Amino acid sequence: MAIEKKFQQNVPLASLTTFKIGGPAKLFFQAAPPADLVEAVAWAKQAGEKYFILGGGSNLLVSDKGFDGLVIKNLSDSIEWQDSEAKVEAGAVLARLVVEAADKGLSGLEWAAGIPGTVGGAVRGNAGAYGSSIQHNIKTVAVLDPETNNVTDYTPDECKFAYRHSIFKEKKLIALSAVMKFTPTRPEEIRRAMAGNLAERAKIHAVKPNAGSVFKNFLSSDLKDANPELLKEAEKEGVIRGGRVSAGWVISRLGFRGKRVGGAMISEEHGNFIVNTGNATAEDVLVLMSLVKQKVRVEYNLQLVNEIEYLDY
Ligand SMILES: Cc1cc2nc3c(=O)[nH]c(=O)nc-3n(C[C@H](O)[C@H](O)[C@H](O)COP(=O)(O)OP(=O)(O)OC[C@H]3O[C@@H](n4cnc5c(N)ncnc54)[C@H](O)[C@@H]3O)c2cc1C
Repeated sequence: MAIEKKFQQNVPLASLTTFKIGGPAKLFFQAAPPADLVEAVAWAKQAGEKYFILGGGSNLLVSDKGFDGLVIKNLSDSIEWQDSEAKVEAGAVLARLVVEAADKGLSGLEWAAGIPGTVGGAVRGNAGAYGSSIQHNIKTVAVLDPETNNVTDYTPDECKFAYRHSIFKEKKLIALSAVMKFTPTRPEEIRRAMAGNLAERAKIHAVKPNAGSVFKNFLSSDLKDANPELLKEAEKEGVIRGGRVSAGWVISRLGFRGKRVGGAMISEEHGNFIVNTGNATAEDVLVLMSLVKQKVRVEYNLQLVNEIEYLDY
């Protein structure tokens, strides 16, 4: 059957995101196996339709009008283990991989316990926490280049991983699967590390729908130039990790926790989370983000950079 016959029309996206915000996709396709995703992308290019690959929707703000194109929800999620490696399809839920690795006594993803979303989304954003990130687990990534329709294996160097960044963002490449490597360790040790990280998260995670950190943390070197006084404060308060100053700490200092615009609110638990208190629109979130950015710029001479992605109409 021609692939476009399998597309649905006018499908609400809000429930497919952790923010629970946003309008419908004009066209929507649940893609599995990976060959279907490849075909759907090729169709969109040939038909002149915009397309968007949706993973777990956990780093995403969808516009109130929705998306005037094809949303491809990646449902390819097989995980095949061989010794201390796994071949993981990009639609696999990261949390499932974390648990399977722990059960097998394979260390490497303990930091990821509690991070929602898929492996593909994590690779694209080089998701990380507690000084680690997914780049350290990657052996190769099978990459679809939508320009050529070719699939090639990329090494970690070729993926150009950096803080919450990769070549996938620069070139709009698509991760189809990844070979990931782990280190054999006693399962009790892995479980202890995971429990510690989950307990840390429980202290800061908002209960209401959100999309994780809204802004990237600052480089310490940025503060050194822009606001050395604030850098000293950050050192004193111990809010620098891996050369980065917590954006949530900076935002909280300005009294933003609990600040609302419409149904969007800066979390009371974490200055860098915006929560949907029930009826937030994307517009509410965008206005709140821009208020925060403006105040941080005026008060501290610092420019916040978005970590969440905005899917515009
Ligand atoms: C409570 C909470 C806590 C969080 N904590 C963290 C944290 O500690 N560290 C952290 O890094 N993030 C964190 N996040 C953010 C988020 O979970 C991660 O960024 C996650 O990796 C996004 O994956 P996803 O599948 O949900 O991506 P989506 O939100 O679905 O998509 C994000 C982007 O990735 C693209 N994408 C999806 N799949 C692919 C693919 N196969 N190939 C290419 N591009 C693709 C999409 O097109 C989009 O551009 C948190 C989020 C929440 C809600």
